Amino acid sequence: MSITTTTTSTSPQLGETRMLVDGKLVESRSGRSFDNINPATEEVLGSTTDADSGDMDRAIAAARRAFDETSWSTDHAFRRRCLEQLHHALDAEREELRAELIAEAGCPSIATFGPQLDWPLDDALRWPAELISTFPWERTLPDTELFGMTSHRVVWKEAVGVVGAICPWNYPVEVVIGKVGQILATGNTAVVKPAPDTPWNATRLGRLIAEHTDIPPGVINIVTSSDHALGEQLVLDPRVDMISFTGSTATGRRIAEKAAATMKRTFLELGGKSAMIVLDDADLAATVPGASFMCMHAGQGCAMQTRLLVPRHRYDEAVELVTAAFAAVSYGDPADPANLAGPLINAKQRERVLGYIEKGVQEGARLTTGGGVPAHLERGFFVEPTVFADVDNTMTVAREEIFGPVLVVIPFEDDADAVRIANDNDYGLSGGVFSADRGRALSVTRRLRVGSAMVNGGLFYGADSPYGGYKASGVGRQNGLEGFEQHLQTKAVGLADDVDD
Ligand code: NAD
Repeated sequence: MSITTTTTSTSPQLGETRMLVDGKLVESRSGRSFDNINPATEEVLGSTTDADSGDMDRAIAAARRAFDETSWSTDHAFRRRCLEQLHHALDAEREELRAELIAEAGCPSIATFGPQLDWPLDDALRWPAELISTFPWERTLPDTELFGMTSHRVVWKEAVGVVGAICPWNYPVEVVIGKVGQILATGNTAVVKPAPDTPWNATRLGRLIAEHTDIPPGVINIVTSSDHALGEQLVLDPRVDMISFTGSTATGRRIAEKAAATMKRTFLELGGKSAMIVLDDADLAATVPGASFMCMHAGQGCAMQTRLLVPRHRYDEAVELVTAAFAAVSYGDPADPANLAGPLINAKQRERVLGYIEKGVQEGARLTTGGGVPAHLERGFFVEPTVFADVDNTMTVAREEIFGPVLVVIPFEDDADAVRIANDNDYGLSGGVFSADRGRALSVTRRLRVGSAMVNGGLFYGADSPYGGYKASGVGRQNGLEGFEQHLQTKAVGLADDVDD
């Protein structure tokens, strides 16, 4: 096992403590703040202002006013310019964002060069901003002759209104700017509520909006709080038209129920238990060790392929290969670019992951590597990269999202059995298929009930690529044309022939 010692991970600049409400960087009215903890060292990095329901109320009122009383929702050229300003402002602070992510999320530096930072920073705002200029905001239908009258018909696409964006801690920059890009490009206004564990990326965004863009006051508000109830306040408030949520399925389910009272549109990106299927014609030695990629960011990714499905007649060989790969995973100080994994986000999450490991052992699964807290890392919320063999797809560790560096290895009989096992789960977020035969891999992929798939390691990622889940993994899509359209209402208009236009 290759290990690096955790020291003080980074020396980030003190994060922005203030939130953005109605165009102003403000402290909470109560004056209270909450600590931002470095999960790799357990040290307090600093504090963030702690909003209460009164602060949230002001933010919702500001977003409502900006939507109802300004031309934000209809001025396409202005919106595009504002998003481009924000893109450039973020880009200019790329390295500060990187240091902050590593410090507050415990995200390994290597991941910041990909989906945690650099990839979304490049196109999460730019792509929807450009789409503003080419999107068909209006389309014409053939005239009708009804009631003896000619009617011209058009369909308009309009912003939904005020969007409450509720975000998780695991990919904070990626999720926040992915949401903000699409919400603003489509002409909505927003109240963003970041996760309490990772507020600084969002408060930095708020400062950049206030200081470097022409985005009008109230169009976007960023409300930080240690209290999850402020998320629910957004869901319940009738002035909010839509909730864009990324987080756990349990919270997503509750949001869907609560949002029904005001008939809000909900877009829910939730958890996963994705399968990596290695078909029997694949080169096991070349593919199976890649399953250890799920340890990236200590397994705290919704699309991580946490179930490895291998042919039964090659099961022992696969377990040996993947065990060796997990034992070689380099983890520790997230600031060290050699490390694939840092810590879990907090002590509670570490207890949760250890509880799942204990459950796996109790249910009869066999630990082949890992399974505990690393003895050599005295501080930080670390868990060893862990592999379970002899796993049946009915076991808790095979069914539930663990959100830690824990892989289960499950045998299958043939392609149909692999598809059956992969689909035999409440979740349906993502998956992967490996085969020497591309057609066979694609045929298996078509039968997977998932929102995204990697075939022979291919990447689907991009701001232009719709991302989301089937079944308990959510409703709707982030990104892509599908995500963009989800932030729009549709108005069908009939125009009588005798009216001047
Ligand atoms: P979480 O559901 O606990 O919290 C997410 C956000 O919801 C936080 O901002 C939290 O304050 C808020 N919240 C909590 N209770 C709420 C309520 N009753 N009403 C409204 N808001 C509430 O999730 P988490 O632990 O922060 O994130 C990890 C989860 O997110 C994992 O399950 C992971 O799979 C999922 N996730 C999914 C995707 C995806 O794209 N599908 C992406 C990232 C993370």
